[in-house]
Amino acid sequence: MAEQEIGPFEAVTRFFNRAADLIQLSDSSRAALGRSYRELTVQVVVLRDNGMRDVFTGYRFQHNGARGPYKGGVRYHPDVDADEVRSLAALMTWKTAVVDVPFGGAKGGVQVDPKTLSLTELERLTRVYTHQISHFLGGHRDIPAPDVNTSPQVMAWMMDEYGKRHGYTPEIVTGKPIALGGSYGRDAATGRGSVIVMHEAVEHLGLSPQECRVAIQGFGNVGSWAARVAHEKGYKVVAVSDSKGGILNEGGLDIPKLMAHHTETGSVAGFPGTEAITNSELLVLPVEVVLPAALGHAIHADNADQLKCRMVVEGANSPVTPGADEILNDRGITVIPDILANAGGVIVSYFEWTQNIQQFRWDEVDVNQRLTRKLVDAHDRVFTFSRMRNVSMREAAFAIAVQRVAETAHLRGYI
Ligand code: NAD
Repeated sequence: MAEQEIGPFEAVTRFFNRAADLIQLSDSSRAALGRSYRELTVQVVVLRDNGMRDVFTGYRFQHNGARGPYKGGVRYHPDVDADEVRSLAALMTWKTAVVDVPFGGAKGGVQVDPKTLSLTELERLTRVYTHQISHFLGGHRDIPAPDVNTSPQVMAWMMDEYGKRHGYTPEIVTGKPIALGGSYGRDAATGRGSVIVMHEAVEHLGLSPQECRVAIQGFGNVGSWAARVAHEKGYKVVAVSDSKGGILNEGGLDIPKLMAHHTETGSVAGFPGTEAITNSELLVLPVEVVLPAALGHAIHADNADQLKCRMVVEGANSPVTPGADEILNDRGITVIPDILANAGGVIVSYFEWTQNIQQFRWDEVDVNQRLTRKLVDAHDRVFTFSRMRNVSMREAAFAIAVQRVAETAHLRGYI
C-alpha cells in the first residue's frame, strides 16, 4: 500500500507501536491499548425543512478510559468515517495523558456536510445524534466537545438534549457558550496552546519571535486563534489559508485587520495587500514555522521533502503522515506532535468541566496562566525525554503518554 493510502487509524497505530517498542510494552497491553474499547455507530434521521427525512451516519467511539471519563470532540464533515473517528479517539487518549489531565480518549462525528443544512436542520441533527448516543455519555462517563464544524451553539444543543432525560448537567459537554457555563478562554485555547508550545520549542532553536516567520494552514477556530496569539507575541505571520485559498505578505500580515476581513467576507482570500497562494504553496514557503491547522494528512511523503521550514507545529490532528514524519526527521525539521501542540483545547475543557462540577467560574487570566503552566510543563517533559533517549518529539510524547495510560490501566486491573 502506498504511504498516502494508509488509513488514519493505521497512521496513529504506527506512532503507538513505535512508542510501545521504546517503552517495551507487553504484548497484552499492546493488544488492549492498540484498539478502541467501545464503538457505537448510529442512524441520525433528520427531518428537513421541506418535510422529507434524510438519514446520516453518526459515531461515538471510546478508545480508553483508564485515566478518567472518555473525552473528545464531535466533527461534522462529509469525510467522517469509522476509521477516522477511531484514529481521533486514540489520539485523544494519548493527548490527555501527555498533558496529564484526568480523562480518557473518545471521538464522535456525523458524516454530513453541514453547509447543506439550515440552522434548524443543524439543530435537529445535533439533537437526534445526542439522543442516539446519550446512553454512552455522562459527566463522569463521556464528555464531548467541539471539533471541525461544531461550535459552542452545537454544544448548547447537546447539553440541552441530554438534560431533557438527565436533568441539568452542564459538565456533559465542554466548549459551551459562556452564558451556559462555558469557560473563559476555551474558544481560544487550542490555538493559544499551539503558540505556547511553539514558543517553548522556538527557544530551543535559539530564535526570537521577531526572527520567526510563521505560515498557518486553516483559519477556523485553531488557525485564527493561533494567528492572533502569535501576532500578539511578536511572531511574523506571513501566510494563512482556508478552504478557499491562501494569502501571503512577506512583511507580515496585519492580523487584527485580517480578522475583520474574514468576519466580513467569510474567507482570508482577497485580503488587500497580499499575494494569492494555494494551500500546497503555503506549506513549502521559506519560513521558520509551518503550523497546519486544517484537516489531516496535509503533509505527506510526496511534499515533505519540499518543506523549507525549521519546525512544523501540528495545530490540526494528524496533519503529518508517518512517511512524512520520517522524511522531516531525517531532514532535521522538528515536528511538535498534535497530542502536545493542540492539547490546549482539552486542557481548558478540563478546566471547564472542573468549574461546572464546582459551580464556580475562574477569570480568563487565571485560565490562561493555568493553561500555560500545564503546557510548558508537558513540553519540558517531552523535550527532556526526546534529548535523553535521542528520539523525536513525537516518539517522546507518545512514549510518555502510553506509559501513563498503561500504568493506570494496569493498576485498575484492565491489562
Ligand atoms: P474549523 O472548522 O473551525 O476550521 C477548519 C479550517 O480549515 C477552516 O478555516 C477551513 O476553511 C480550513 N480548511 C478546510 N479544508 C481545508 C483545506 N483543504 N486546506 C486549507 N484549509 C482548509 O476547525 P478547527 O476546530 O479549527 O479544527 C482544525 C483542526 O484542529 C482539526 O484537525 C481538528 O481536529 C484540530 N483540533 C481542534 C481543536 C478545537 O478545539 N477546535 C482541538 C484539537 C484539535
